[in-house]
Amino acid sequence: MHFDVAIAGGGPAGLSAAYAAASVGRSVLIVEQNNEIGSPTRTSGGSFINDLTELGIPQELLHPVHRLRFLSLHRSAEFEYREPIMCVMDVRGVYQHLAVTAAQAGATIWPASKALDVIKDGSNIVGMRVETRTKAIVKIGARVVIDATGYRGQLLRQAGLSPRFQRFGVGAEYDMYAPHCSQDEAVLVVGSQFAPSGYAWAAPWGRHRVRVGVGVIHPDHDADPVHRLESFVAGASKLGVNLEGAQPIEYHFGLIPSDMGETFVGDGILGAGDAAGHASTLVGEGIRWAIKAGRMAGTVAADAIERDDVSAAFLGQFQSEWLRRYGRNLRIANMLNRKISKWDDKIWDERTELLGLLSPDEFGRGLQTEFSVGWALGIAWAHPRLVKAGFDKVLGKLGIG
Ligand SMILES: Cc1cc2nc3c(=O)[nH]c(=O)nc-3n(C[C@H](O)[C@H](O)[C@H](O)COP(=O)(O)OP(=O)(O)OC[C@H]3O[C@@H](n4cnc5c(N)ncnc54)[C@H](O)[C@@H]3O)c2cc1C
Repeated sequence: MHFDVAIAGGGPAGLSAAYAAASVGRSVLIVEQNNEIGSPTRTSGGSFINDLTELGIPQELLHPVHRLRFLSLHRSAEFEYREPIMCVMDVRGVYQHLAVTAAQAGATIWPASKALDVIKDGSNIVGMRVETRTKAIVKIGARVVIDATGYRGQLLRQAGLSPRFQRFGVGAEYDMYAPHCSQDEAVLVVGSQFAPSGYAWAAPWGRHRVRVGVGVIHPDHDADPVHRLESFVAGASKLGVNLEGAQPIEYHFGLIPSDMGETFVGDGILGAGDAAGHASTLVGEGIRWAIKAGRMAGTVAADAIERDDVSAAFLGQFQSEWLRRYGRNLRIANMLNRKISKWDDKIWDERTELLGLLSPDEFGRGLQTEFSVGWALGIAWAHPRLVKAGFDKVLGKLGIG
C-alpha cells in the first residue's frame, strides 16, 4: 500500500496534518492505536478562545472561563474576564471534530492500528510498518512520514532524530461531576503542598463537569501526582473549590515534554506536536500548538511531494518557519518554566503577590505565551517590582534590558 503522506498518531497534531495534506489533494493515511479518536483523554483541555476560533474549532466545544484564581500557600491573585479569553474544551469533541474535518478533506483514518516502526531506504524514511485492527502487519509506503505519536516521539527516535527530552510534566486528573463547583472559575494552585515544581488545577468544562488534577515536573521533583491528586481533592474545599457531592466520572494520566524541540525534520520524515516538543512548556499547554504544528507540517509535506523533493533540506522549511514564528516565545516559556519549577513556597508567595498587580489582560497574555515587546514594556513600565523580582532575563530575551 502506498500513500503520499503516512501519519502515526491521531491526536490534534496528526489529525491537523492529515487535514492540511489531504485538503490539497494528497493521499493521506493516519493510524491511531486507540479504538477511538479523543479517547482515552490524557489532557485537561485548557486553552485560549481566540486561537482556537481562528483554527476553526466550533464555539460550542469551548467552555469559557470568566475568572482565574492563582493560589500559592498564603497568597492569591485573581483575574476577572468580562470577555473571556480562556476556555476549557470538550476534548473528545474537539479531537473528533478534527478527525471529521480530515476525513471530509479525503484522509483515510485507521483507528485501532499501531505504527510499529519506520521503513528506511539508506537514511531516507520511505514508509512505516503498521499493526492493524485485525493484527495484520502491513507495510505502508509513503513519500513523507509524519510522527505525531505524542511525547514518545517513537518514529523520530527510530529515524535517529530523537529530541532527547530530559524533563516531562507528569499529570494525574479526575474528570468529575461536581454539582456545586463554579463553572465560571478556573483555579491554579502552586507550591509544595500539592504540586511541587508544577501546579494543581480545577478546570470547569460545562454541565457540572470539572477536571481536577495535579502535574509535577520530573525529574525536577520526584513527587508522584497520582497520590498527590487524592490530597488535592481532599483539600480542595479549603481553597474555595467546592467538590461537595462530586464524583469522578473519568481518571486521566499523561505526560508532556517540558523541553522544547529544535530538530524535528529528516529525509522523508517530519515530527509535529508533542513528539517534536512544540507545546508551550510554561504551563504544559500543547493542544493549540499541536494543531498549528500539524497544519504547518501537512502543508510542507504536500509542497515537498508536489516539488518531488522530500529531502531534509526541503522539509526543513517546516522547522525554520516554525522556529521563526514561535521559537522565541517558546524559548522564553521554557526558560520561565525552568525557573519557576525551582521556586519554594516563600518565593511563590512573594511572586503571587506581585502577579496580582498585573491586569487580567497582562496576565492572560503571559499565560498564553505571547511575550511581545509591547507586553513586556507595558509591564516593565507599570510594575518595576516584577522586573526586579526576576523577570529581567525575559526582558533581556525580548531585547529590553
Ligand atoms: C495531564 C496533562 C494535562 C494537560 N493539560 C493541557 C491543557 O490543559 N491544555 C493544553 O493545551 N494542553 C494540555 N496538555 C498537553 C496536551 O495534551 C498535548 O500537548 C497535546 O495533546 C499534544 O498533541 P499531540 O497530537 O502532539 O499528541 P497526543 O495528544 O499525545 O496524541 C498522540 C496520539 O498518538 C497515538 N499514538 C502514539 N503512539 C502511536 C503509535 N505507535 N501508533 C499509532 N498511534 C499512536 C496516541 O494514542 C495519541 O492518540 C496536557 C498534558 C497532560 C499530560
